[in-house]
Amino acid sequence: MTETETDVLVVGGGAAGIAAATTAARNGARTILVNAGPILGGELNYGAPVDGCLTARGEWAVGGFARDFFAACEKYDGYIGPVCDYRALNLVCIDPEAAKLAAIDLVSRADVQVLMYTFTDQAVVDDDGRIQGVVVRNKRGRTFIRAKTVIDATDDGDIAVAMGCEMMVSDAANGSAQSESLLFRMSGVDTGRLLDFVKSAPENFGAMEYPGFAEDAAAAIAGLVKQGQPKVLLTSDGPLLRDAVADGRMYPTSWVAVSPTSTARREVSIHTTVVPDVDATEIAREGVAFDSLHEQISMCADFLQRSLPGFEEAGLSAIDPFVGIRETRQVVGDYVLTGADVLSGKKSEDGVAKGCHELDVHDTAGHRRENVKDGGSYDIPFGCLVARDARNLLVAGRSLSADREAHSTARAMGSCMAMGQAAGTAAAMLSEPGSVSDLRGINLAGLRTLLKEQGAVLDGIS
Ligand SMILES: Cc1cc2nc3c(=O)[nH]c(=O)nc-3n(C[C@H](O)[C@H](O)[C@H](O)COP(=O)(O)OP(=O)(O)OC[C@H]3O[C@@H](n4cnc5c(N)ncnc54)[C@H](O)[C@@H]3O)c2cc1C
Repeated sequence: MTETETDVLVVGGGAAGIAAATTAARNGARTILVNAGPILGGELNYGAPVDGCLTARGEWAVGGFARDFFAACEKYDGYIGPVCDYRALNLVCIDPEAAKLAAIDLVSRADVQVLMYTFTDQAVVDDDGRIQGVVVRNKRGRTFIRAKTVIDATDDGDIAVAMGCEMMVSDAANGSAQSESLLFRMSGVDTGRLLDFVKSAPENFGAMEYPGFAEDAAAAIAGLVKQGQPKVLLTSDGPLLRDAVADGRMYPTSWVAVSPTSTARREVSIHTTVVPDVDATEIAREGVAFDSLHEQISMCADFLQRSLPGFEEAGLSAIDPFVGIRETRQVVGDYVLTGADVLSGKKSEDGVAKGCHELDVHDTAGHRRENVKDGGSYDIPFGCLVARDARNLLVAGRSLSADREAHSTARAMGSCMAMGQAAGTAAAMLSEPGSVSDLRGINLAGLRTLLKEQGAVLDGIS
């Protein structure tokens, strides 16, 4: 086994991991990023709009790395920007192909050493509970990467598990997991025709939940049409989808979400497929889910082409590379963010990132949704990123320390980038000469000041 050494090791190159690695390196730490797959950005490449960036009131709740990422998407002609769904959310639409270029651009400009196609599930821990590094595996064999601080951005908390840290399954009582989905894209969509249909048959589309968007449902639909973007939610409250489900032209579903991904390709992403209650760490069952999700894609594309005005000439242009997994397990951190914290818009003196996406649980009880108080934001405390059983392991992204309700909002990609920036900056502080070596000794006021100097939004919005 070969051996190498670094200040900061980031495992996982999704939204949280690229933010963590880039900001750690920008702050002077020698940084290695290890990623199992062939592309950086993780679910940023799905085509889903980026949630958790703007409050329902329209204020930016993330800055710093996230805004740099959007600027890089724009450089590659892939930034549509903030779009309102006139229902409950403001979200940021990007082209997932540009997102791939943007992710590599930012990470490589920061001089991060990237190891793609490299997996790890083995942590080396000393008698004091400090992680010394991880053993990675790729085509060249096994390498021990020694690091002062490790950031677990693996989405399933693989490093925390390998260290033996306590983990939680968010619905442990029932042992159930949130549903999985597989997003796909269709190009050649006629937005004008689609929005004309929205105007003429508004009963088919979701609108008007957050009262700040419009005076009433009719005004919300008018706003949606005027905005001119193919950002609509077909719901089974209306006859188009309800009848299709009833007569078997569509699988049972209550909605089909359409979001713009590329103006040039007249392309949208479609988020609707669903397989409930699969534990994604159970790989055999995952294969069965995969079959069902692909069948649903074919059925839905056919339904849209035949039934939704604007889609007559549209064709399937991409199926996302990974099945979308909403949750598996989260680390138990120094602080566990709760649904009550989120819904009350709780602020915290040690907040190092903000969340603002609605509570968004897809479980056996259905799709539970509720906006943050007054359409505002909540703080993600530093303790949500610090594994309780470890001294120098940070967690960022989907495996943060949160209960099911809080997790359902904090896992949004905007918040993941903000958490990544906080973790990367904290890890860089720990690698400075003479620094404390335990995360509990970190100068939190200093970390917050540095984050704000580097564009993070921590204060100023309720
Ligand atoms: C169906 C679905 C729809 C969603 N819709 C939205 C939406 O509309 N808007 C929104 O903002 N969010 C949405 N989300 C949530 C959001 O996409 C994710 O929670 C978020 O992207 C997670 O980011 P991450 O960086 O934690 O992980 P990921 O983006 O999953 O990245 C993890 C990376 O780590 C790598 N990795 C994993 N394990 C290892 C290992 N052991 N060794 C090395 N590398 C490893 C993976 O290859 C991957 O590149 C959705 C999620 C799902 C499932």
